[in-house]
Amino acid sequence: MTAQDGHDQAPGGARADARPMRLTVLGATGSIGTSTLDLVARDPERFEVVAVTANARAEDLARLAIRVRARHAVVADPAAHGALKAALAGSGITTAAGARAICEAAALPADMVVAAIVGAAGLGPTLAAVGQGTTIALANKECLVCAGDLFMRAAREASATILPVDSEHNAVFQVLERDNVEQVEKLILTASGGPFRTFALEEMRGVTPDQALRHPNWSMGARISIDSATMMNKGFEIIEARHLFPLRADQIDVLVHPQSVVHGMVQYRDGSLLAQMGAPDMRTPIAHCLAWPGRMGTPAQRLDLAALGTLTFEAPDPVRFPALRLAREALAAGTAATAALNAVDEVMVKAFLARRAGFLDIVTTAEQVLERMAGTTGFGEMTCIDDVFAVDETARRLAGEIAGNGS
Ligand code: NDP
Repeated sequence: MTAQDGHDQAPGGARADARPMRLTVLGATGSIGTSTLDLVARDPERFEVVAVTANARAEDLARLAIRVRARHAVVADPAAHGALKAALAGSGITTAAGARAICEAAALPADMVVAAIVGAAGLGPTLAAVGQGTTIALANKECLVCAGDLFMRAAREASATILPVDSEHNAVFQVLERDNVEQVEKLILTASGGPFRTFALEEMRGVTPDQALRHPNWSMGARISIDSATMMNKGFEIIEARHLFPLRADQIDVLVHPQSVVHGMVQYRDGSLLAQMGAPDMRTPIAHCLAWPGRMGTPAQRLDLAALGTLTFEAPDPVRFPALRLAREALAAGTAATAALNAVDEVMVKAFLARRAGFLDIVTTAEQVLERMAGTTGFGEMTCIDDVFAVDETARRLAGEIAGNGS
């Protein structure tokens, strides 16, 4: 079952049995991971944490693992294993390291796996979690950008449930009448517009990583913050929505909404426009997934609409934010193109953060790599996950060559 279908748990969110939910959090030290574990720590009786994982931040991971009494803690970077073992000595929490160990942790029996690793690195572990046919709270949108149909097919075959954590998709999921999908005219994903919403193109040319990381409303990891500034993140979200919901690409709209209060909307044939609103705090959509199909409490700030007074909306500017067009073109070209787009973006965001590339180079290079790949090999059919990794590798190499930064 996926976000496209109905639900199979007890109405009102009551779990069929009263035992705690066995939960694994991949990417536990990140922005989504720590928000998830904050909710877990506030309601410890409700959860039994099976495993928590990170890349290299061993001490942070150990602290979190102890706080939520996790059974296993795993780092992807073998060099961080010593520090993890030392920090967890005597705690009874078992440890492991390496990319394979992350996949093994993802496959440990759990009622829900929160997929919150950043980037294409999350694909393998999330697929390992999907393979156990459990519920995936999916934050790692790159799974869908890189492997779209393949990922959703794997979920269907394993009878895994995919719940969207991304605030816009979670909003749509909350207001989408799954029995009335054919009555939907369109989805609207809102976008804050990022820190450069009002900047002229020429002004954007010289912006620094510090400026780009300063998102006006959301506190997030570095990669998604930069992607929000270029609006590539919104482009990825169009791709994500196309795979999560049974709608065509031309039924997925983007609307700039600087206050980030309305997260997503669904417009029906009768003219009704249903919206989900909330303070910009990822604990709300995460809690929606953790408790689905019920609800649970969160400390997220409650909206005071009278104090807010005005909510504004505007169309995105395709000239200053070409990433939206590029993502739509890649979506039309197929999963190989969207996987390539993600790979170039990962390389270029890293280069920008390291001051080896300019802000505008991120999208320009992506466009050049996609053009080159379409012109030489073309974007063929992706039949297996190895095809995804092959495209990813080619796109990274070309991005390095074009950007001339050796990234
Ligand atoms: P962060 O950068 O804050 O955290 C990333 C997490 O992934 C960390 O735990 C990091 O470990 C881990 N990680 C990084 N590389 C690897 C690797 N190679 N192998 C295993 N683990 C790795 O990211 P966010 O929490 O911001 O984002 C996570 C995902 O959620 C992204 O796909 C993002 O697009 C999506 N998302 C995020 C939102 C947000 O508000 N932050 C909103 C909606 C979606 P370590 O700490 O050791 O580096």
